[in-house]
Amino acid sequence: MSRARRSNDWGFPRWRGYGSSREATQVRLCDRHGCSEPGDCPAPKSPNSPDRWYFCQKHAAEYNSGWDYFAGLDKEAAAEREAQERAETAGYQESAHYGWGGSGDGTRSRDELRALEALDLESDATFDQVRKAWRTKAKEVHPDVRPGDAEAAKAFQTYQLAYEVLRAAEERREWKG
Ligand SMILES: [Zn+2]
Repeated sequence: MSRARRSNDWGFPRWRGYGSSREATQVRLCDRHGCSEPGDCPAPKSPNSPDRWYFCQKHAAEYNSGWDYFAGLDKEAAAEREAQERAETAGYQESAHYGWGGSGDGTRSRDELRALEALDLESDATFDQVRKAWRTKAKEVHPDVRPGDAEAAKAFQTYQLAYEVLRAAEERREWKG
């Protein structure tokens, strides 16, 4: 028996010179087994890992379409990380919508859909509904109302983060509109 066989065939990093031999530049190849395109699209290996795969555009799209960024995270953790990453990579988010597949229903990103879910809203909820749901829910678990209640504090945080995500998305749409 060899080592446990993986269900996929994503390989180890390979490199090759790209261009003529004289001006050989080392180019990282797509991590998809058997692909010899340059791998210039980083994709996270797992939700909590800083490790990245590097795929060509085509395989990045393929990988991302089967990828649940939030797998294994509860709603709070997902919303929290989402807000963090949004703050850290504001510029990157724009490009994330191009060619990186698997985002929501085409009008809303997957991040937004998760935030809507955290507020118990449907995917087509208006921003007005978002604001109302957030106010109602946040009020119920507000630290002033439930002092010293750790569970409530956690829920409050979740609602705040979800609202932040949706508000930011709404603003981006307005600027583009
Ligand atoms: Zn490839």
